[in-house]
Amino acid sequence: MSALALFVEVILPLPLHGTFTYRVPRDLEHYVSLGKRVVVQFGRKKLYTGIIAETHDSPPKGYQAKYIEELLDDAPIVFEDQLGFWDWMRQYYLCHIGDCMQAAIPSGLKLSSESRLAIHPNYAGEMDGLDEEQLDILEALQNNNFLTLDEIAKLIRKTHVHAVVRSLVELQVVVQYEELQHKFRPKTETVYRMAEWLSDKEQLQEVFEALNRAPKQLEALMQFIQSSKTSKEKGVVKRQILIADNGISAAAVDQLVKKEILLKSEVEVTRLADKDAWAQGDIELTEHQQQTFDELNALFAEKDAALLHGVTSSGKTELYIKLIQQKIADGGQVLYMLPEIALTAQIIQRLQKHFGEKVGIYHSKMSDNERVEVWKKQLSNEPYQVILGARSSLFLPFRKLEFIILDEEHEHTFKQHDPAPRYHARDAAAYLCKKWNAKLLLGSATPSIEAYFNGKRERIGLVHLTERYGGIKLPHIEICDLKLERKAETMKGPFSSQLLGRIKETLDRNQQVIIFQNRRGYSSFVQCNSCGWVPDCINCDISLTYHKYSQDVRCHYCGHSDKVPHVCPNCQSTYIKTKGFGTEQVEEELALHFPEAIVQRMDMDTTRGKHAYTRIISDFEDRRIDILVGTQMVTKGLDFDHVGLVGILNADQLLNYPDFRSFERAYQLMAQVSGRAGRKGRRGLVVIQTSEPTHFIIEQVVRNDYEGMYQSELVLRKQFRYPPFIRMIQITMKHRDREKVDAAAAVLAKELEPIPDKLLLGPEFPLVQRIRNKYNKQIILKMGGANIKERKVQIFKAIQRVHEMKDFRSVQFVPDVDPV
Ligand SMILES: [Zn+2]
Ligand SMILES: [Zn+2]
Repeated sequence: MSALALFVEVILPLPLHGTFTYRVPRDLEHYVSLGKRVVVQFGRKKLYTGIIAETHDSPPKGYQAKYIEELLDDAPIVFEDQLGFWDWMRQYYLCHIGDCMQAAIPSGLKLSSESRLAIHPNYAGEMDGLDEEQLDILEALQNNNFLTLDEIAKLIRKTHVHAVVRSLVELQVVVQYEELQHKFRPKTETVYRMAEWLSDKEQLQEVFEALNRAPKQLEALMQFIQSSKTSKEKGVVKRQILIADNGISAAAVDQLVKKEILLKSEVEVTRLADKDAWAQGDIELTEHQQQTFDELNALFAEKDAALLHGVTSSGKTELYIKLIQQKIADGGQVLYMLPEIALTAQIIQRLQKHFGEKVGIYHSKMSDNERVEVWKKQLSNEPYQVILGARSSLFLPFRKLEFIILDEEHEHTFKQHDPAPRYHARDAAAYLCKKWNAKLLLGSATPSIEAYFNGKRERIGLVHLTERYGGIKLPHIEICDLKLERKAETMKGPFSSQLLGRIKETLDRNQQVIIFQNRRGYSSFVQCNSCGWVPDCINCDISLTYHKYSQDVRCHYCGHSDKVPHVCPNCQSTYIKTKGFGTEQVEEELALHFPEAIVQRMDMDTTRGKHAYTRIISDFEDRRIDILVGTQMVTKGLDFDHVGLVGILNADQLLNYPDFRSFERAYQLMAQVSGRAGRKGRRGLVVIQTSEPTHFIIEQVVRNDYEGMYQSELVLRKQFRYPPFIRMIQITMKHRDREKVDAAAAVLAKELEPIPDKLLLGPEFPLVQRIRNKYNKQIILKMGGANIKERKVQIFKAIQRVHEMKDFRSVQFVPDVDPV
């Protein structure tokens, strides 16, 4: 029981400065404590769920504090150290603590007046045990699709409904309306059984005889019978086993289903691996892995953090599992972070196989209910010991955090872009480790310059794992000079004759192909061939991308779409052409060149659905796809066994992107996508198409020379003053009125002038000046030296001051610390 508290400081889920003081009603004086939720009124009428950050007995100066409306929890839902984490984040990333709360807590834990509620779809009408208040609310909801908390309060004429609504949510009578729209769908898998009528031996014999004329089907049936004897569930064979593992033709299996010899059905795949598998959880490390394992352990005796630089397919995951086993043996907790997109069934199953019920999964593709469940489990006395999650898992409550692994450390998706807090998981993880006295392991085949720099300077440990697992060689990389092919007129659309030849060879060998093109849509843009006119977005200063599938031109910044122009509005010419190649056109042309191959595209347009991404991945794994065309999504750390060739269509595009990180990123993308080629058995091949075959980055990719890339990049970064030599803060101002944004930026630049030891660049319009109808103007601050913390405080205060000026209240100020 806490000491008597007369006032509490409450964090509200709003982008506002500081916490807010509320008065504690007498009957709650003994119950309020740090980390519990309260419902408070803020503004005229609005009610919010906030979190108590502090209890005290000094009334606020100059105004009368309002009373807390309701106290929602018996026990805190966030721990004190989490509040400390939010506070660090707010200061480091120049935002408000309410922004951090908003990012941290699953929305199910912070009902606000606007939260919409509906009857739970699984609620069967059971009313036993519901009290009168609960029944009133149930009745109000039965007559409506959904209601907000405010509306419910009005309908049942009560002011305090949070607590009772929450009890209904917990009883699963009521659900947040948003939840209904993306309801959890289990992962399923296709399986086959023998049809009932074939249990008759004679019938079966007849079928066999009939199939003599269809040898592939016969082979399929024999394999089915063979596999069904050894499968876990007798008589049931997974599609994956039949087709992918045993090389049976998918068409033949489909024919057997058509003839009603086999029955096809979908079964739910349990999220937890079966118990047999858990037992065989022990991992044999190879000699190299064992060496690295020992090296890491030795390093961690001295250092708080280490970078594991391991080539693609070096078996980093096995190492991680060994390290996790070690850490949890004494009751510690481990957080294993991956970029969102890499959190596929592949990795989840591998981890669950080893740690079974000790693993919890946490990422933004999960439903809010699922996330609330994990959150509550972590509050309990028996939390998951291992959390596998995306960047948001940093916000979970921990009891004894001992180790954080951040794999694919170089991925820029570890940085949150919008909204605030614009945090980087790597730096936030480093903070958490310091607080917990835990160890941090970063892993990557192509580390970020920053991490490698820290390794080289011995600020963190650095370990190399240079051998691929199972002795597989790194792929052979061929360069195709586009200038020569163009001169010889051997290009066919986006493809060189060299690449087309390699694709054919690979398909003939019955291997798979990945084609990487970092531009979605059909073409980059459409253009009038007579006068050069290009259609631009009406909201943004950017040309529109042609999408053939939907027959329109679309803006990739704001989503605006328009009809394809047939007549040039500028010169009335009808000679309008598409220029440049997007993934959509690449897919289409590949299908023309290789009509017998199955081509699939993986980009933002084909993976919008919640499960679309996973489906494409598993189709590719099961060899239902021969050629996969994709944007950088295909470069993520996925392991495929049968990829013989990777083609990079246009390396020039990557190299010429106007950003100080473009060389680093071009190297990372090319090296990563190359790493998808060649797994078991055969050395893979990569073909890079470029018109700059002697560009040093291309040569470094060919030589697999990360070190060389790092050294050349470091020279440039030092010369032009970029990270890791200095820190950057980018402040973007946004407004519909160009003059207003100009004025605000000029005033802010002036306000920032007195801040010492900084280089101020701008204000300037960025590459794309107008996005979603708002003009953007940027100031970039480059800072070095110590006490950066104090200068950040000054910067944030300067921004606040300008924002509060009468003229600029409607201007949006977006500070981004360490932009990527
Ligand atoms: Zn024209
Ligand atoms: Zn636009």
